[in-house]
Amino acid sequence: MLIIGSHVSFKKDTQLLGSLKEALSYGENTFMFYTGAPQNTNRLPLDDELTNMALDMMRKNNIDKNNVIVHAPYIVNLANTDKLDYSIPFLIEECKRCEKLSMNKLVLHPGSHVGLGIDTGIDNIIFALNKVLSNTNITILLETMAGKGSEIGSNFNEIKRIIEGVKFKDKIGICLDTCHLSDAGYDLSNFDNILDELERLDLFKYLGCIHINDSKNSMGSRKDRHENIGYGYIGFTNIINIIYNDRLSSIPKILETPYIGLYPPYKFEIEMIRNKKFNDNLPSLVEEYYEK
Ligand code: FE
Ligand code: FE
Ligand code: ZN
Repeated sequence: MLIIGSHVSFKKDTQLLGSLKEALSYGENTFMFYTGAPQNTNRLPLDDELTNMALDMMRKNNIDKNNVIVHAPYIVNLANTDKLDYSIPFLIEECKRCEKLSMNKLVLHPGSHVGLGIDTGIDNIIFALNKVLSNTNITILLETMAGKGSEIGSNFNEIKRIIEGVKFKDKIGICLDTCHLSDAGYDLSNFDNILDELERLDLFKYLGCIHINDSKNSMGSRKDRHENIGYGYIGFTNIINIIYNDRLSSIPKILETPYIGLYPPYKFEIEMIRNKKFNDNLPSLVEEYYEK
Protein backbone atom coordinates (compact mmCIF):
# COMPACT_ATOMS: atom_id res chain seq x y z
CA MET A 1 0.00 0.00 0.00
CA LEU A 2 1.15 3.51 -0.82
CA ILE A 3 1.98 5.38 2.39
CA ILE A 4 1.89 9.03 1.45
CA GLY A 5 1.60 12.29 3.34
CA SER A 6 3.06 15.75 3.58
CA HIS A 7 4.42 18.27 5.96
CA VAL A 8 1.44 19.73 7.88
CA SER A 9 1.15 22.44 10.53
CA PHE A 10 0.99 21.86 14.28
CA LYS A 11 -0.95 24.67 15.88
CA LYS A 12 -1.22 25.82 19.46
CA ASP A 13 -4.97 25.26 19.78
CA THR A 14 -5.43 22.06 17.80
CA GLN A 15 -2.02 20.33 18.01
CA LEU A 16 -1.86 16.71 16.76
CA LEU A 17 -5.61 16.68 16.07
CA GLY A 18 -5.25 19.70 13.79
CA SER A 19 -2.27 18.14 12.01
CA LEU A 20 -4.21 14.94 11.41
CA LYS A 21 -7.27 16.78 10.10
CA GLU A 22 -5.09 18.78 7.74
CA ALA A 23 -3.50 15.56 6.44
CA LEU A 24 -6.92 13.95 5.96
CA SER A 25 -8.10 17.01 4.01
CA TYR A 26 -5.32 16.32 1.49
CA GLY A 27 -6.21 12.63 1.15
CA GLU A 28 -3.12 11.45 3.04
CA ASN A 29 -2.61 8.33 5.11
CA THR A 30 0.38 9.69 6.98
CA PHE A 31 1.97 13.11 7.69
CA MET A 32 4.91 14.96 9.22
CA PHE A 33 4.99 17.94 11.56
CA TYR A 34 7.22 20.04 13.80
CA THR A 35 6.07 20.22 17.43
CA GLY A 36 6.75 23.98 17.40
CA ALA A 37 8.46 26.59 15.26
CA PRO A 38 11.39 24.89 13.49
CA GLN A 39 13.65 27.91 13.94
CA ASN A 40 13.33 28.49 17.69
CA THR A 41 13.17 26.62 20.98
CA ASN A 42 9.85 28.01 22.24
CA ARG A 43 7.59 25.04 22.87
CA LEU A 44 3.98 25.15 24.00
CA PRO A 45 2.70 22.62 26.51
CA LEU A 46 1.08 19.55 24.95
CA ASP A 47 -2.58 18.85 25.55
CA ASP A 48 -3.18 15.13 26.20
CA GLU A 49 -6.85 15.42 25.41
CA LEU A 50 -6.10 16.64 21.87
CA THR A 51 -3.48 13.92 21.51
CA ASN A 52 -5.93 11.21 22.53
CA MET A 53 -8.61 12.51 20.20
CA ALA A 54 -6.06 12.49 17.38
CA LEU A 55 -4.89 8.94 18.13
CA ASP A 56 -8.48 7.80 18.18
CA MET A 57 -9.22 9.47 14.87
CA MET A 58 -6.08 7.92 13.39
CA ARG A 59 -7.30 4.45 14.31
CA LYS A 60 -10.69 5.17 12.76
CA ASN A 61 -9.02 6.32 9.55
CA ASN A 62 -6.55 3.42 9.42
CA ILE A 63 -3.57 5.68 9.88
CA ASP A 64 -0.74 3.80 11.52
CA LYS A 65 0.97 6.13 13.99
CA ASN A 66 4.23 4.32 13.29
CA ASN A 67 4.16 5.93 9.86
CA VAL A 68 3.73 9.44 11.24
CA ILE A 69 6.93 11.48 11.43
CA VAL A 70 8.05 14.35 13.61
CA HIS A 71 10.74 16.68 12.25
CA ALA A 72 13.28 18.07 14.72
CA PRO A 73 13.78 21.84 14.65
CA TYR A 74 16.57 22.77 12.29
CA ILE A 75 18.27 25.06 14.77
CA VAL A 76 19.57 21.92 16.46
CA ASN A 77 23.15 21.47 15.25
CA LEU A 78 24.85 18.44 16.75
CA ALA A 79 27.98 18.90 14.63
CA ASN A 80 29.00 22.26 16.08
CA THR A 81 30.97 21.98 19.32
CA ASP A 82 29.75 25.43 20.47
CA LYS A 83 26.09 24.50 20.07
CA LEU A 84 26.12 21.14 21.86
CA ASP A 85 25.34 22.64 25.27
CA TYR A 86 21.93 23.71 24.14
CA SER A 87 21.32 21.30 21.24
CA ILE A 88 21.59 18.14 23.35
CA PRO A 89 19.13 19.07 26.13
CA PHE A 90 16.75 20.60 23.61
CA LEU A 91 16.77 17.48 21.46
CA ILE A 92 16.18 15.32 24.54
CA GLU A 93 13.23 17.59 25.35
CA GLU A 94 11.95 17.20 21.80
CA CYS A 95 12.15 13.40 22.12
CA LYS A 96 10.10 13.61 25.33
CA ARG A 97 7.50 15.63 23.42
CA CYS A 98 7.40 12.93 20.73
CA GLU A 99 6.86 10.31 23.43
CA LYS A 100 4.07 12.36 24.99
CA LEU A 101 2.45 12.59 21.55
CA SER A 102 2.81 8.82 21.18
CA MET A 103 5.03 9.32 18.13
CA ASN A 104 8.17 7.27 17.64
CA LYS A 105 10.10 8.64 14.67
CA LEU A 106 11.99 11.92 14.68
CA VAL A 107 13.78 13.16 11.55
CA LEU A 108 16.95 15.12 12.22
CA HIS A 109 19.40 17.01 10.03
CA PRO A 110 22.79 15.63 11.10
CA GLY A 111 24.31 19.12 11.38
CA SER A 112 26.85 21.54 9.89
CA HIS A 113 30.45 21.50 11.02
CA VAL A 114 30.84 25.27 10.41
CA GLY A 115 34.53 25.04 9.57
CA LEU A 116 35.50 22.51 12.25
CA GLY A 117 35.92 19.84 9.59
CA ILE A 118 33.96 16.71 8.81
CA ASP A 119 35.80 14.49 11.30
CA THR A 120 35.16 16.78 14.27
CA GLY A 121 31.58 17.32 13.10
CA ILE A 122 30.91 13.60 12.90
CA ASP A 123 32.53 12.98 16.30
CA ASN A 124 30.27 15.65 17.80
CA ILE A 125 27.16 14.17 16.19
CA ILE A 126 27.99 10.69 17.49
CA PHE A 127 28.70 12.00 20.99
CA ALA A 128 25.43 13.97 21.02
CA LEU A 129 23.28 11.17 19.59
CA ASN A 130 24.59 8.73 22.18
CA LYS A 131 23.65 11.21 24.92
CA VAL A 132 20.20 11.84 23.47
CA LEU A 133 19.38 8.22 22.68
CA SER A 134 20.35 7.05 26.16
CA ASN A 135 17.45 9.23 27.37
CA THR A 136 14.67 8.14 25.03
CA ASN A 137 13.07 5.32 23.07
CA ILE A 138 12.38 7.50 20.03
CA THR A 139 14.05 6.45 16.78
CA ILE A 140 16.05 9.30 15.26
CA LEU A 141 16.16 9.24 11.46
CA LEU A 142 19.20 11.04 10.04
CA GLU A 143 18.23 12.96 6.93
CA THR A 144 20.50 12.91 3.89
CA MET A 145 21.42 16.51 3.07
CA ALA A 146 22.00 18.57 -0.07
CA GLY A 147 25.54 19.52 0.98
CA LYS A 148 24.86 23.23 1.32
CA GLY A 149 27.61 25.08 3.23
CA SER A 150 29.25 22.67 5.66
CA GLU A 151 26.34 20.26 6.00
CA ILE A 152 27.27 16.74 7.04
CA GLY A 153 25.36 13.78 5.62
CA SER A 154 25.23 14.62 1.92
CA ASN A 155 26.69 11.21 1.08
CA PHE A 156 25.97 7.75 2.43
CA ASN A 157 29.50 7.24 3.73
CA GLU A 158 29.10 10.09 6.21
CA ILE A 159 25.74 8.71 7.33
CA LYS A 160 27.37 5.30 7.73
CA ARG A 161 30.18 6.71 9.87
CA ILE A 162 27.63 8.32 12.18
CA ILE A 163 25.54 5.16 12.49
CA GLU A 164 28.63 3.08 13.19
CA GLY A 165 29.43 5.34 16.14
CA VAL A 166 25.92 5.24 17.61
CA LYS A 167 25.59 2.69 20.39
CA PHE A 168 21.82 2.33 20.07
CA LYS A 169 21.43 0.70 16.64
CA ASP A 170 17.73 -0.01 17.22
CA LYS A 171 17.03 3.69 17.75
CA ILE A 172 18.84 5.13 14.73
CA GLY A 173 17.69 5.25 11.12
CA ILE A 174 17.83 7.13 7.83
CA CYS A 175 15.48 9.51 6.04
CA LEU A 176 16.23 10.01 2.34
CA ASP A 177 15.21 13.30 0.72
CA THR A 178 14.96 13.18 -3.07
CA CYS A 179 15.73 16.90 -3.54
CA HIS A 180 18.74 16.62 -1.26
CA LEU A 181 20.00 13.45 -2.95
CA SER A 182 19.83 15.04 -6.39
CA ASP A 183 21.40 18.28 -5.18
CA ALA A 184 24.16 16.24 -3.54
CA GLY A 185 24.97 14.67 -6.91
CA TYR A 186 23.07 11.36 -6.83
CA ASP A 187 21.42 10.44 -10.14
CA LEU A 188 17.81 9.55 -9.34
CA SER A 189 16.92 8.31 -12.82
CA ASN A 190 17.60 4.75 -11.67
CA PHE A 191 16.69 4.60 -8.00
CA ASP A 192 17.54 0.93 -7.73
CA ASN A 193 21.19 1.96 -8.07
CA ILE A 194 20.78 4.17 -5.01
CA LEU A 195 19.07 1.40 -3.07
CA ASP A 196 21.79 -1.05 -4.16
CA GLU A 197 24.41 1.31 -2.80
CA LEU A 198 22.54 1.50 0.50
CA GLU A 199 22.46 -2.32 0.55
CA ARG A 200 26.18 -2.51 -0.19
CA LEU A 201 26.90 -0.20 2.74
CA ASP A 202 24.52 -2.27 4.90
CA LEU A 203 22.37 0.83 5.41
CA PHE A 204 19.16 -0.19 3.65
CA LYS A 205 17.76 -1.76 6.81
CA TYR A 206 17.95 1.65 8.52
CA LEU A 207 15.63 3.33 6.04
CA GLY A 208 12.61 4.80 7.87
CA CYS A 209 11.23 7.62 5.75
CA ILE A 210 11.57 9.32 2.37
CA HIS A 211 10.98 13.00 1.73
CA ILE A 212 9.56 13.40 -1.76
CA ASN A 213 10.49 16.69 -3.39
CA ASP A 214 11.49 17.87 -6.80
CA SER A 215 14.45 20.27 -7.00
CA LYS A 216 14.69 23.80 -8.37
CA ASN A 217 18.33 23.10 -9.28
CA SER A 218 20.25 20.61 -11.34
CA MET A 219 21.96 17.49 -10.03
CA GLY A 220 24.98 18.31 -7.86
CA SER A 221 24.01 21.95 -7.26
CA ARG A 222 24.11 21.60 -3.45
CA LYS A 223 21.43 24.31 -3.13
CA ASP A 224 18.50 22.66 -1.30
CA ARG A 225 15.58 24.43 -2.92
CA HIS A 226 12.51 22.20 -3.08
CA GLU A 227 10.15 22.27 -6.06
CA ASN A 228 6.66 20.87 -6.68
CA ILE A 229 6.78 17.39 -8.11
CA GLY A 230 7.25 17.29 -11.84
CA TYR A 231 8.17 20.97 -11.93
CA GLY A 232 11.88 20.62 -11.23
CA TYR A 233 15.05 18.92 -12.40
CA ILE A 234 14.22 15.46 -11.03
CA GLY A 235 11.02 15.24 -13.01
CA PHE A 236 7.69 13.50 -12.61
CA THR A 237 8.61 10.11 -14.06
CA ASN A 238 11.64 9.68 -11.83
CA ILE A 239 9.63 10.69 -8.76
CA ILE A 240 6.80 8.28 -9.61
CA ASN A 241 9.33 5.48 -10.09
CA ILE A 242 10.79 6.20 -6.65
CA ILE A 243 7.39 6.36 -4.95
CA TYR A 244 6.25 3.08 -6.52
CA ASN A 245 9.56 1.20 -6.19
CA ASP A 246 8.60 -2.19 -4.68
CA ARG A 247 11.56 -2.15 -2.33
CA LEU A 248 10.15 0.99 -0.70
CA SER A 249 6.50 0.00 -0.33
CA SER A 250 6.57 -0.06 3.49
CA ILE A 251 8.41 3.26 3.82
CA PRO A 252 6.36 6.42 4.56
CA LYS A 253 6.73 9.06 1.84
CA ILE A 254 6.37 12.70 2.83
CA LEU A 255 6.01 15.70 0.52
CA GLU A 256 7.81 18.89 1.54
CA THR A 257 7.14 20.78 -1.66
CA PRO A 258 6.57 24.54 -1.61
CA TYR A 259 3.23 26.25 -1.20
CA ILE A 260 1.74 27.81 -4.29
CA GLY A 261 1.25 31.39 -3.21
CA LEU A 262 -0.62 31.08 0.09
CA TYR A 263 -1.92 27.57 -0.54
CA PRO A 264 -0.73 24.03 0.12
CA PRO A 265 -0.26 21.99 -3.08
CA TYR A 266 -0.42 18.58 -1.40
CA LYS A 267 -4.00 17.55 -2.17
CA PHE A 268 -3.32 17.94 -5.87
CA GLU A 269 0.21 16.56 -5.86
CA ILE A 270 -1.11 13.44 -4.13
CA GLU A 271 -3.80 13.16 -6.76
CA MET A 272 -1.11 13.27 -9.45
CA ILE A 273 0.84 10.62 -7.56
CA ARG A 274 -2.15 8.32 -7.16
CA ASN A 275 -3.11 8.74 -10.83
CA LYS A 276 0.55 8.55 -11.90
CA LYS A 277 -0.30 11.37 -14.23
CA PHE A 278 1.42 14.74 -14.36
CA ASN A 279 -0.78 17.83 -14.37
CA ASP A 280 0.96 20.89 -15.81
CA ASN A 281 -1.77 23.08 -14.39
CA LEU A 282 -1.02 22.64 -10.68
CA PRO A 283 -0.86 26.35 -9.76
CA SER A 284 -4.32 27.17 -11.12
CA LEU A 285 -5.84 23.95 -9.72
CA VAL A 286 -4.61 24.89 -6.25
CA GLU A 287 -5.63 28.52 -6.50
CA GLU A 288 -9.10 27.72 -7.81
CA TYR A 289 -9.68 25.15 -5.08
CA TYR A 290 -8.65 27.33 -2.16
CA GLU A 291 -10.05 30.61 -3.44
CA LYS A 292 -13.56 29.42 -4.08
FE1 FE B 1 14.51 18.05 6.69
FE1 FE C 1 13.60 16.88 3.83
ZN1 ZN D 1 15.56 20.45 2.11
